[in-house]
Amino acid sequence: MKSQKTPLISEIKSTLSKSLSLILFLVQLFFASLNFFILNQPAIGTYQFLASIFCAYVFFHSLKKEVKEWHHYVLSLITTIGIISVISVADLRAGPIYWSFALPLIYYMLLGTQKGLTFSLIAFFPLAGILFLRSDLDHNIPYRSVLNFTLAYFSVWTICHLYERHRMTVHLALQKMALGDALTGIQNRHALKLFFESIKDNQENLHTLVIDIDHFKSINDQFGHETGDKILIEMTELLKSRVDSKDIYRLGGEEFLVILEEAPDNEALSLAESLRRTVEQSTFAHEETDINITVSIGVSKFQYGQAFNEFLRLADKNLYRAKNAGRNQVCSG
Ligand code: GH3
Ligand code: MG
Ligand code: MG
Repeated sequence: MKSQKTPLISEIKSTLSKSLSLILFLVQLFFASLNFFILNQPAIGTYQFLASIFCAYVFFHSLKKEVKEWHHYVLSLITTIGIISVISVADLRAGPIYWSFALPLIYYMLLGTQKGLTFSLIAFFPLAGILFLRSDLDHNIPYRSVLNFTLAYFSVWTICHLYERHRMTVHLALQKMALGDALTGIQNRHALKLFFESIKDNQENLHTLVIDIDHFKSINDQFGHETGDKILIEMTELLKSRVDSKDIYRLGGEEFLVILEEAPDNEALSLAESLRRTVEQSTFAHEETDINITVSIGVSKFQYGQAFNEFLRLADKNLYRAKNAGRNQVCSG
């Protein structure tokens, strides 16, 4: 299962963008007003005002679930520039340096573990450098000040790193349980539903193959449920040898579904026919006894706008036409 692209991860990222862009919008707008009307810092005020407009732009995109990766990069960048500029010009006694501790948090939330680590490291040097240069030399505290800042910044950074890694591990384990099939390890029906919800309207030539093992009940009855399970696992391996595993789903029982994106009708049909023939010519569960099985396959083309259940019903129709025509057949429609 390709974890980085799954709809669940996109969903979580979208929720994070929504809350974070709203918080950043309010904070930037507050400081823009403060700098304009009270502190008489129009340059920084203008920057913060423009930054707040971009935060609002990302917020509205996140409401429509249309946040892009580059939005996160720009959000991180404008926040970093904003904080560095404030620390460069504002009176350090007012405590603007405290805001720099928010940076690792923002990087890890928006960009993930790897980029969070890199960005936190890159941001540290200008922050520590400016703090050192602008500390009060009369009292000889720049070294202590930078040392305290460094230790506090690295503590926050380490906590963010450990937390994000732990969160990702738990997330992937939960996702595997929620979207994976316990017996075969491939994706389940729920994962298929999420895939259909993520289909874009420009996706043409999306075909599905619904593959059902013929008379599987009698195989279970004859050889036992455990052998039946082994056959399901071997069937999965056979499908994986022909199709990318991210495109294979177990719908339930002895029924599988294969997605073919960007495949013309004849390609989908010839793959179905070739799979049918390969199954017919293979022997399964051969360690105990050689078992021959056949499959019936329904091939359907997805029409954009179709509801998930309606689509499955139509795809099943083609499968049942293959069953009614005597099984071990491919039917399309
Ligand atoms: P058809 O050719 O019409 O598809 O007949 P069939 O016997 O394959 O279909 P039917 O729906 O009558 O029976 C499906 C069987 O699949 C019934 C059930 O015992 C079996 N089955 C469902 N899930 C599992 C599973 O996880 N493991 C095993 N071993 N058998 C399963
Ligand atoms: Mg069956
Ligand atoms: Mg069935």
